[in-house]
Amino acid sequence: MTTNLDLIRRTLRAVWHPCTQMKQHERLPMVAVSHGSGAWLYDQNGRRYLDAISSWWVNLFGHSNARINAALVSQLQRLEHVILAGFTHEPAVTLSERLSELTGNQLGHCFFASDGSSAVEIALKMSHHYWRNQGRPGKTRFLSLQGGYHGETTGALSVSDVALFRVAYEPLLRPGSRLLSPDARGRQVGESAADVARRCARELERELELHHDEISALIIEPLVQCATGMVMYDPEYLRLARKLCDQYQVHLIADEIAVGFGRTGTFFACEQAGITADLLCLSKGITGGYLPLSVVLSTPGIYEAFYDDDVARGFLHSHSYTGNPLACAAALATLAIFDEDRVIERNRERALSLDRLFEPIASHARVRNFRRTGMIWAFEVEGPEPHFARRFAAAALERELLLRPIGNTVYFMPPYILDDGQCEMLAARSLELVDQVR
Ligand code: PMP
Repeated sequence: MTTNLDLIRRTLRAVWHPCTQMKQHERLPMVAVSHGSGAWLYDQNGRRYLDAISSWWVNLFGHSNARINAALVSQLQRLEHVILAGFTHEPAVTLSERLSELTGNQLGHCFFASDGSSAVEIALKMSHHYWRNQGRPGKTRFLSLQGGYHGETTGALSVSDVALFRVAYEPLLRPGSRLLSPDARGRQVGESAADVARRCARELERELELHHDEISALIIEPLVQCATGMVMYDPEYLRLARKLCDQYQVHLIADEIAVGFGRTGTFFACEQAGITADLLCLSKGITGGYLPLSVVLSTPGIYEAFYDDDVARGFLHSHSYTGNPLACAAALATLAIFDEDRVIERNRERALSLDRLFEPIASHARVRNFRRTGMIWAFEVEGPEPHFARRFAAAALERELLLRPIGNTVYFMPPYILDDGQCEMLAARSLELVDQVR
């Protein structure tokens, strides 16, 4: 059998890893995973790690889930893939119907892609093309929020605001305005989180008032801006953004790639504001972490604006694996688990019991801004040195935890299957880390 070390040497020669300065692996341990089961990952040496971030927020029901495995095996025996132009298949149709139902049938006509960034590209293109088909081709700009993140292809990066990911590519990106984030941590004396939302919405209003003729859409991550450090905000911002976008004829694009599928405590985060976006982007948890799949749902009005005898007025975007049947089958199995296991309700109880277990962390002298939305917990650790995130992640691995802080923000995005013992272990060992990683 290959050992951890063999595989690590080979990966460092053969693979260019994502989101990684490869040179850091001269010092940083790499983990060679052999298999997974439930919340646990096992390395080649038999060491185990509790996957407390659902492997970049995708494995909602842990690893090697029996029901998703069975659905995939069954789909594999019928149809692994087929071109989705001119052809269709049961898993794509049923999944589209189910997703539309989950929006209360407000949105539909699922447009499939494979990853979150591509879904964002599609939503941006669809928005602009819609206005063009409506005789308003001048609507070419996009609004986004400071600290927002929507992916790393050039269109998606143009509406993202993480300096480290943008700076080298700045000359390739489209100009656009990045507006104040309604980050609840920015509360001024006497302000509530809803007041922050209202204050930030006034800036949005000014921007729309001045430039709505050029603005195609506002793109936002509803309730939690995840990639910049789990920035949480009040649903009031979503309500006001919805109202202003309607008033100024600008699309609202909800990027629920990270926050959809129950992560914020409701199936979609937008539900907490009682709003529906014009375009909804989904990915990540959609297949329970099994296969790459993303989807964009739109309003009937947007779909109809493309429906025409003229081919060029259609939405011609395509990619080879569009609507892959295996990925759709994994997504349907994932949705079935939500129903069968009453996941949203049970997560509410699980979140409350984790709140109790995390209490010593929340009240720790080094901890700032301890916060939670649904099944996302986050806090800042005061005064860490520049390599805090790396050191914390390495120390977590020594304690059998997979955690990846963002800067000095530590967060938990656990799979929806942790049992009591795993919750206790996560809380106790994380407390040790907060105490000891200096
Ligand atoms: N939007 C959001 C909100 C995300 O969190 C991410 C990924 N972290 C993306 C888009 C991009 O998705 P992907 O990595 O699948 O391209």
